[in-house]
Amino acid sequence: MKWRGRQQSSNIEDRRGQGGGLGGLGGSPFGRGGGGIRIPTGGGSRGGIGSLIGIVVVLGIIWVATGTNPIDILTGGSSGGGSAASSSSRPPTTGEQAELRDFVGVVVKETEDLWTEVFQASNEDYPEPTVVLFSNQVNTACGAADSSTGPFYCPGDQKVYIDLSFYDQLREQFGAPGDFAQAYVLAHEVGHHIQNITGVLPEFNQRRQSMSQEEANAYSVRVELQADCYAGVWANYAGQEDLLDNGDIEEAVNAAIQIGDDTLQERMQGFAVPKTFNHGTSAQRKTWFERGYTSGNPGDCDTFSGNV
Ligand SMILES: [Zn+2]
Repeated sequence: MKWRGRQQSSNIEDRRGQGGGLGGLGGSPFGRGGGGIRIPTGGGSRGGIGSLIGIVVVLGIIWVATGTNPIDILTGGSSGGGSAASSSSRPPTTGEQAELRDFVGVVVKETEDLWTEVFQASNEDYPEPTVVLFSNQVNTACGAADSSTGPFYCPGDQKVYIDLSFYDQLREQFGAPGDFAQAYVLAHEVGHHIQNITGVLPEFNQRRQSMSQEEANAYSVRVELQADCYAGVWANYAGQEDLLDNGDIEEAVNAAIQIGDDTLQERMQGFAVPKTFNHGTSAQRKTWFERGYTSGNPGDCDTFSGNV
């Protein structure tokens, strides 16, 4: 991807090197909803059994929400906030990590440009999401999370969270190398933000409460495939902006294939259980990414009517 030297988003919040300070379930004055940038206040880390239970409960929520899939949405209750940010080290300013941060900044900026255009076409403002870079652990309006969750979007604070070490995992464990595979992951999470704005995500989170697990999984697949389609729409835009190198689209398509539910489950446990799929098969993810990429029109990303 030809990203170097391009403008970066101003909505990147770099919390690397801050430790997580998992806060327990007590809630906080900064609870859910806020929307703005939350500055971690040194509220004191409440240690002990309470926060341990908090961690376990929150991880349980994450597990239910994500299954084994590495990129996702988090919808847990508001248990985050009040992080005790002991900044023992600061975000890197040089080297590979700094370069990655610049890369993320450019990709996010390009998503902002696309979606601002799309929203403006219907006379609406695009509320830009914040992208939080963290290392190891992070507090969010959806609860505390750690790196093993993979990148995710939290509707409660309208932020995308990513530990950049996920990109090593994507390359080495999931077999999806390449900078455009990395860009796809971000564009997919931004896709969840779009769904949050358009009402798709709130409706999903409400309706699935009264669904069986199997029904909720099938519904989740449609939500995820739409986010893949939106990532494809962004890839189309990136092409128009002359950002694409040879092989970039193939890198994104390969990533979509590698994190398909069937492929993931077969790799991890040797067999796949279709009724547990909640992100879509490799074939479905490839198809919907490509549909968005080919059309460039988010209106062609209706994954909710008909078969997917
Ligand atoms: Zn997702």
